[in-house]
Order: sequence, then structure tokens, then C-alpha cells
Amino acid sequence: MAPVSIFILDYIIMITSALCLVCGNPIFEELVDFGLIPRSNSLLSQPETSFPKVDHSLEFCPKCAMIRRRTSSQAPSDYSEVKRATGAQTPVYINEIIRDLTALCLTRGSLIIDVGGNDGAFLDLVASAGYTNRLNVEPAMAFIEPCRQAGHLVENVHLDLDQASRISRQYGLAEVIFCRHVLEHVPDPFCFLVAIRSMLKENGSFFLEIPDAEGIIHGLLGHELWDEHLFHFTADNANRLLIRAGWHIFWSTIKPHRGGTNLLVWAQPSSVDQATLSTSEIASQDVSACRSFKTRWTELTWRIIQDAKTWPRPIGCFGASHPQSNYLLFTGLGRQVEFLIDDDPGKIGRYVPIPQPVPVVSTAQLLAGPLPGTIIRSAFGCDFWMDKFCPSLSARGTLIVEPY
Ligand SMILES: [Zn+2]
Repeated sequence: MAPVSIFILDYIIMITSALCLVCGNPIFEELVDFGLIPRSNSLLSQPETSFPKVDHSLEFCPKCAMIRRRTSSQAPSDYSEVKRATGAQTPVYINEIIRDLTALCLTRGSLIIDVGGNDGAFLDLVASAGYTNRLNVEPAMAFIEPCRQAGHLVENVHLDLDQASRISRQYGLAEVIFCRHVLEHVPDPFCFLVAIRSMLKENGSFFLEIPDAEGIIHGLLGHELWDEHLFHFTADNANRLLIRAGWHIFWSTIKPHRGGTNLLVWAQPSSVDQATLSTSEIASQDVSACRSFKTRWTELTWRIIQDAKTWPRPIGCFGASHPQSNYLLFTGLGRQVEFLIDDDPGKIGRYVPIPQPVPVVSTAQLLAGPLPGTIIRSAFGCDFWMDKFCPSLSARGTLIVEPY
């Protein structure tokens, strides 16, 4: 394949991490500062168990609206020990992606790579479509054995340019590469996209799926500003980053997912130098939304806290994962919440700091005990689960409130 071009701008951005990785702008503005908060996904065995804290503030590029964490050095970027399987979070549109794969890649023996393929749930679907040569490039050690047992090849590494080169030598170039909900977690998304490009055939296809930041900045979905996401991209600046990393986008769309939206892109390697892109109309609207985010978020959370003063006590909250702790910490509402409700056996009986540690109870425990005064419907995107309990809870006198 042709060597990947590294332009002077790219090189300068690579060696100067302070610059915007999309447009090279050196000056960032504050988006919001949530202060020192418990690190997300802190599940405590006892309320007095200590937990790590992170300084969680975010900034945005006033030219392209790309958002990044200010103190990314505190963010977890080593996923070797993470055991969080995401197979249960499969989006409703997943079969459309598999249909795209079967249209783009006719040869069932072609190499298909899933970068950050987690527990292999997506590669299971690729296998069901008849593809026999499947590689999961996944740093989490917990998923090596389950993936091998499912018949997938596994490379247990954090992908970078050196690993991409080694993998290509070992397995050959891929026909199709998938990368779903990974780019926003990696410290250098530009180099990551270049590394992926180097593992793909010149006429191969690349599928990228990432959370869409439009819901955060325009829809005020502040709970999506998760501490594990080092970057938040809009469709506009994600496309610009892809183009700068040597990709030609031939299809992209935005799909609803769990109360927010995801950006889906199909791209192919490009040999055209498109490094100099002018600022778009869309970017200026996104920049305005970023600039007013802090004021609008402060107004929204003030209104939520005022409303909460009238809610009967105690207050419980559906869900005990990071979207719920994010919501409760970022709004400040967590100080008024006494317990979380979740049916994940790994969470029941443990404690989540919001910031004070509160217990996690199951829906069976909830329904068996004295009912709380108020429950917040904060299991974003899990309406089906919450709808099973809310009507009877409401009929028995519990106030059910929406999170926003
Ligand atoms: Zn920028």
C-alpha cells in the first residue's frame, strides 16, 4: 500500500499536544468544570472503602468545537484490567452495519478486524454472517479467553503505529476494519486513525462509530461528559479529523442510541491531500453552543435542584452505572439521593459514591421494602426496563420524575 502521508501540520500537532488535533488551533476555552469528583465506575464493597477522585474539567476548540478533557493525564487510558463487557449495549441498528459489511465485502474468508472489540459480541454477529477470519484487537485481558472460545483471533494490545505494523505483518492487511466507541477513549485519536489506516487494504473499508457531541452541547445531555471520554466529537469535526488522518468518507449518518445519538461513518483510505479545510458554518454554530454551555448547564441544574426541594423523600434513582453517577454528580443532585436501583448482580449490595457512597438495591428489594418518596427515571435509554416498574410504583404513591 502507499505510505500514509504525514503533513507538516500533522507533525506539529503530534508533537504539541496542546494544539487542537482537528484543526491545529492553539487556544482552548473552558466548556465546564465539574471539580474534583469520584472516578466513574467506582463500586465500593463498603461505604467507608476509599475510592479515587479525578479533576474533571473540559475545554473546547473555538474554531472547530472539538471538546477534550483538560486533565487527560488523570483519565484512565490503560484498559488492560477493565472487565466491563459492552455486549448488552448493542444498538438497535446493529444489523444494518452487518448488512453494510455483506455488501462491501463479498469474500467470507477476508480478514475482518474489530479494534477495541471488547467481549467479541460484535464479531459474533460478523461470524454469524459467515466471515471466518476475524481479529479482535482488544487491550482488556478479561476478554481474551471468551473471544478465543468464540473462534475469534485476539491481539491483546493497545493499538498504536508499532502494533499496527506488527499486526499487519502477522495477519496481512484487512478488508474491513470496525472501531466502535473506542476513538473517544484513546489519548491520541489522530495517530490511532492513522494506525488503523495502515492495517487496511487500499480498497478496504473502515467503519467508525462514536458518541455524537451534538446532544451534549445543543441538547444539554451533560451526563455524557464521562471522565473516560478524553474527547467529544461532533459529526463535523470528526469528519475533519478523519480526512486529516487520510480517510475518504463515503457514507455517514447519526442514529439515536440510549437517549443520545451516535455518529456512524464508513470511510476508505484516501490519497488526496485534504489537510487544509476551512471552518464550516456548522462548526460556528457548535462553537456558540459550547461557549454558552456552562451558563445553560448552570441554569438547568439550578432548576432541577429547585424542583427536587419539593420531591418526597427518600429519593432513589434508576441505574447504577456511569451515566447515573455522572448525572447525579454533575447536577449536584446526588447529595439528595439515598440509593440507586440496578438489577446487575455485580452491583447489588455495593456502594456508588455520588459523592457520598449510597447503596445499590435490586428492583426486587425495592418492591419488597417500604417504597421511596421519589424515583428518578435516570436509566437513560432503558425505558423498557423502567416501564416495567414505574406504573405500579406510581400507583402506590411514589413520585416518578424525569432526569431533565
Ligand atoms: Zn479545532
